[in-house]
Amino acid sequence: MTERKIYIDYNATTPLREEVKAAIIEDLGIYGNASSMHASGRLAHARVEEARQAVGALLGAPAAGIIFTSGGSESNNTVFQTMRSIAGDSGRNEFITTAIEHPCVLNSASYLKKLGFKVTFLPVDDYGKIKMDAYKAALSDKTLLVSVMMANNEIGTIQDIKEISRLAKEKGAWVHSDVVQAVGKIPVNAVDLGVDYLTVSCHKIYGPKGIGALYVKKGAPLFPLIHGGHQEDGFRAGTYNNIGILGFGIAAVLARRDLDKYARQTRALRNKLRDGLLARVPNIKINGHPEDVLPNTLNVSFPRAEGEAILLSMDIKGIEASTGSACASGSLEPSHVLMALGVDAELAHGSIRFSLGWGTSDEDIDYIIEEVPPIIARLRAMSTLT
Ligand SMILES: *Cc1c(COP(=O)(O)O)cnc(C)c1O
Repeated sequence: MTERKIYIDYNATTPLREEVKAAIIEDLGIYGNASSMHASGRLAHARVEEARQAVGALLGAPAAGIIFTSGGSESNNTVFQTMRSIAGDSGRNEFITTAIEHPCVLNSASYLKKLGFKVTFLPVDDYGKIKMDAYKAALSDKTLLVSVMMANNEIGTIQDIKEISRLAKEKGAWVHSDVVQAVGKIPVNAVDLGVDYLTVSCHKIYGPKGIGALYVKKGAPLFPLIHGGHQEDGFRAGTYNNIGILGFGIAAVLARRDLDKYARQTRALRNKLRDGLLARVPNIKINGHPEDVLPNTLNVSFPRAEGEAILLSMDIKGIEASTGSACASGSLEPSHVLMALGVDAELAHGSIRFSLGWGTSDEDIDYIIEEVPPIIARLRAMSTLT
């Protein structure tokens, strides 16, 4: 009987880093309203502004361009709803995004489509890179917003956001990128990327859940999703979540400081896992781009084995991974990302995402390489799939 627990689902969420947890515990007693003028308020306010500096630095952006939100989903919704607000006056009403975005972008875009806007969901190639010909064909003087994620949460494929921005800017469109999965793993620099908006979430970089940010370039339009008080210069009402925000600040400092180490460490272990599985499980397929891919992410298709059954069998052995995205579990729909790659539905159902993090050890990888092959062999033997 094994007592082991191996969490290898860091793209779904991450635990608090010790330094983040310690800072939160130390400051839990700070109760002042960060908008109040008195000393208690000023103390809370100072923590919020320090965090804003740290998040700005992480994104290569001025602190003044950082708006705190409740997370990645809210940041993404804010951008799409802002565009909806300005569509009439700007004379532009077309949106371009991709078929492999996170559901909070996909569904924001689908909602606008339902309201009558033209929305293009760009196709991707076998590796998950957007088809640039289709992108160029979709761009026009009517394009209001281009929204393309920097790195995909399911397969880890990285897009050339700089080039995507350049082309969008030639047409005068606004550019947004969801960099939730990219920050802390690969360099992200708002100025270098040439974007107007960036979305980031705290719980994917070892900070608390329910807090995130939107970077807005100076001069880019922004309308509040949450109306109310004058917090965040009136762009996002609601009393500051100062504990979440200060945790975000520490997480951002650490993510920036440790970027290279994180990438090196997770890449070595990810490659070991990939090579181990390829060597020991016949007939499997790795999804995602071979080079332009997040260092921590490995998405594997196991033909003739069913994903939920693999997950349950791994869970019994203490291995916690996922099929595609956390948001898709419980649904019988195959992953929209894998389908967009052209993976057939049956194979998409038999695909597992391993996403590594700080807690992943060499022994963990040895254990997974040991335990997964017999699970697949057993499921294949029972399978009615041909
Ligand atoms: C997790 C995730 C989100 C959503 O962020 P929340 O803070 O959980 O709302 C958005 N985009 C990507 C790519 C993600 O991985």
